[in-house]
Amino acid sequence: MSVTIQNVSQYFGEQAALSDVSLDVPSSQVLGLLGPNGAGKSTLMRLITGYMSPTKGTVEVCGMSVTSEPLETKRRVGYLPEHNPVHLDMYIQEYLDYVARMHSLSDRSDRVHEIIHKVGLTPESHKLIGQLSKGFRQRVGLAQALIHDPDVLILDEPTSGLDPIQLVDIRELVKEVGQRRTVILSTHIMQEVEAMCERVVLIHQGRLVEDDTVQSFSNQEGGLEAVFQSLGSAV
Ligand code: ADP
Repeated sequence: MSVTIQNVSQYFGEQAALSDVSLDVPSSQVLGLLGPNGAGKSTLMRLITGYMSPTKGTVEVCGMSVTSEPLETKRRVGYLPEHNPVHLDMYIQEYLDYVARMHSLSDRSDRVHEIIHKVGLTPESHKLIGQLSKGFRQRVGLAQALIHDPDVLILDEPTSGLDPIQLVDIRELVKEVGQRRTVILSTHIMQEVEAMCERVVLIHQGRLVEDDTVQSFSNQEGGLEAVFQSLGSAV
């Protein structure tokens, strides 16, 4: 398994953001975490990236604990946070070179050019990040998450705020990336899951309430919206 989560709970003070969540994600799968705002999606993703350790339970990436082997597991994970924190006053190449240096990549210049090409940034590659549209900034975010060729890619709301054309482009890119590695993405929009994922995990109030193929969810009467309504929450 690329990612194994066992009996994970996460508390912030008295509040349980996640309660006893277990999940196995194999390689070459695009998995969608779907749930309303506040469900616990970002918290689960941060635990996989090693950004924080779970209050209870274990998280493993490629068979290693993110708590006891933080450096090795971080090398295996690429992360695009919800508010893609790219440096607006840096040039694209300058920023990606900086990220490549943080990962101690030896062939930095080649790798930066390769990843710029892969995410479709070549025509914009001379620009400052602050001069880019939201869709191209999201590509820079994907480039920094992919530059060290991780096995697992974590994308927090990767398509939020994009216009319809940008949306289609980023969806295609995510699907292509997911052919060769594990992708876990979050969204609160059912259509995003249907467009990009093979498998969907529903999270509600910190609990994993459904885990199935997108196909079988879509075949249910009323689809995912009906499932959420039955749980007392709108998607
Ligand atoms: P989602 O990504 O599904 O919108 P989150 O994982 O961001 O949900 O949040 C789950 C719950 O945990 C929310 O109630 C949120 O307010 C709370 N939470 C998340 N991060 C923190 C934090 N650092 N401190 C306190 N509460 C937090």
